[in-house]
Amino acid sequence: MPTNFFRHGLAIASLLVPLLASGTACGGRAAGTTENSSPITVVIDAGHGGHDRGGIPGQSIPEKEMTLDVAQRLRNVLAASSYRVVMTRDSDVFVPLATRVAIANSYRNAVFVCIHFNATKRIGAEGIETYFYSRDSLPLASAIHYYVVGGAPSANRGVRRRGYYVLRKTSIPAVLVECGFLTNPTEAAYAQTASYRQKLAEEIAAGVRGRNSVASAATSESIPLQPYIDQTKVAKSSHHSSKRSHKKSARKKKSSSKPADSATRAASTDREG
Ligand SMILES: [Zn+2]
Repeated sequence: MPTNFFRHGLAIASLLVPLLASGTACGGRAAGTTENSSPITVVIDAGHGGHDRGGIPGQSIPEKEMTLDVAQRLRNVLAASSYRVVMTRDSDVFVPLATRVAIANSYRNAVFVCIHFNATKRIGAEGIETYFYSRDSLPLASAIHYYVVGGAPSANRGVRRRGYYVLRKTSIPAVLVECGFLTNPTEAAYAQTASYRQKLAEEIAAGVRGRNSVASAATSESIPLQPYIDQTKVAKSSHHSSKRSHKKSARKKKSSSKPADSATRAASTDREG
């Protein structure tokens, strides 16, 4: 999806460290699920689909095809590891965001992983970024980001906090991964390579497996809340609606109101998409 450009997440991402012993020390928080319990369900959400191609107008590579391919590869990797896997879509169909959330919320002992690729008018924009919203989602976001960035040649744009609909409305740990910019020639070339998409899927799967084993020195409160932008209408969303949604989120999370305000200012000046 198109994105805004500011880099609060970069410093945070550099603080991600793998733990030798899972779930201990270093400020690590247990994810919403526990190791050694019944197998978790992984709800995989391939971004966009059907009439919603994703990306920005005029973009040559359809984001919806890349997301579905990575999602299907991720399903295969996780299924081979005995995870129960559910897909919000498994073909080129449009699935409303509310339906995606309803599917995710119908499972307990589950996590939700949304697969996206980025886009912007600035072709030099590059890198991988991972979003979360709820506190319980940060360990999963940290782990997935750690592995995907580690396995990809792309730049590290950090773990970021934003109230995307699919992240705000889900009641299980939920993460949205932006697997690189399809508007960047180098990253687009990678994305169009099957072996690279397989690599992305394997690294995301490693993050799911290691969700209790990668600690972030950051807390969900220390990561600035970026203004909410609708996942499927980024290019058209008005400043007014973003601001209003942001304020609503800020009220819920008192401690993040200050950084969120600065994030709003940054977004208003740095927005490119
Ligand atoms: Zn997208």
